[in-house]
Amino acid sequence: MRLICTVKVDASRMCPGAIRTGIQRPRASTLSFGRRPNHKDEICLLLQSAQDTKGMRYNVVGNIVHIFTKFINEGKCTIRLKEPAHDLIIQADALLLKSFLRVIKLAFVKNSFEPVLKVPVLNEKYFRPKIQTKCFVTTNAEYPTLQGFPRTTQHLSIVDLQKKSFDRQILRLNQLRSLDLSKNCIRSLPVELGSLPNLAELCLAENQLGKSPPKSWAWLNGHAMKKNLITLDLGRNELRWIPPYIGKLIALRTLSLNHNLLSSLPFNIGFLSSLRFFSLQENLLDMLPGSVQRLHLETIDVSGNTFNPQGFEGCKIDPYKLDVPDLVEIAAKAVLRSRLRYGPETIPRGLVKYLDEALYCECGEACFNYHLRSIIMFDLRAIAEKCVLSMDPRIPLRCIFCSERCRYRRH
Ligand SMILES: [Zn+2]
Repeated sequence: MRLICTVKVDASRMCPGAIRTGIQRPRASTLSFGRRPNHKDEICLLLQSAQDTKGMRYNVVGNIVHIFTKFINEGKCTIRLKEPAHDLIIQADALLLKSFLRVIKLAFVKNSFEPVLKVPVLNEKYFRPKIQTKCFVTTNAEYPTLQGFPRTTQHLSIVDLQKKSFDRQILRLNQLRSLDLSKNCIRSLPVELGSLPNLAELCLAENQLGKSPPKSWAWLNGHAMKKNLITLDLGRNELRWIPPYIGKLIALRTLSLNHNLLSSLPFNIGFLSSLRFFSLQENLLDMLPGSVQRLHLETIDVSGNTFNPQGFEGCKIDPYKLDVPDLVEIAAKAVLRSRLRYGPETIPRGLVKYLDEALYCECGEACFNYHLRSIIMFDLRAIAEKCVLSMDPRIPLRCIFCSERCRYRRH
């Protein structure tokens, strides 16, 4: 049996004074166990790596001091050996590691004669650890319905298969970095997608996410998604609305919303501080939110929208008068100002929705029902090095102000 893993050999127990020099760097390795070809009663573990192709053999029977499995669910364990006094610090896929240890336990802990015979003879030929990290499914016949995707997959592409639903086995791919599900018929995604720990690129173009109800966008609010997502493509999804969660994707660098039916964007879109490439081609936008003035972009593409500067010249101030806000609004402002974490597990869902739908003044202060509005004309060249436009670079912005002072400062 073989396990493809990363192993760090800690030999510091052999010379306790030299703790640092005894620890090897983690190496991509193959750990196999079986009977030695010429000594069939001797059972050993064979550790091979690209740097040590002959490998190191460790006797197993009576030679394992302890197996530390406290972090086995994270795919980590340590095998402490008596002779030589090495600790093998192993990291691998959690399920594969568990089954590897289970087989060792079955064969040796019972120490019965019969299981030993069942242990295969060790094939000492060098086994290069071949880790499949890319998986491209282009036809339904290739789809691994029964065997599933390799656990080591980092790049998964399931394109143009007319899939109507999201395959939940993708949620088991903890190493997944990029996922391309374009040209399918997916209408909603599971909330667990937002917890995939390494997902950085997500392409969902040419699906039907515009038909999904607001609650099925919760995946976009997942903790890992907010922290790690760098590229998001939601083009050609018949979207009429974008959830405000999108403004919380702090690592997002490229956002494509091309060819949808959007007439407005969330007010917090300008809080995407990492955003560099922003594409809004062919939508129904007549204005952009005032917060876009905070962006620092390399490219913005707003061509094919219905911006109509006619009639928006100068500044138009709403007759809406600023009143004394209610207590809910004051408390909600304090929560957002202090960046307190909130969620349905701590406060009622109605309040979560209320907080998520906050509007933002140019000064960064959140506003709810009590605010001032105005429309200003803004030259997009002030926020982007390259602008792709159908017409005038001056675009109407819908601005929100938390106070008379902020509005006065702007005009
Ligand atoms: Zn303000």
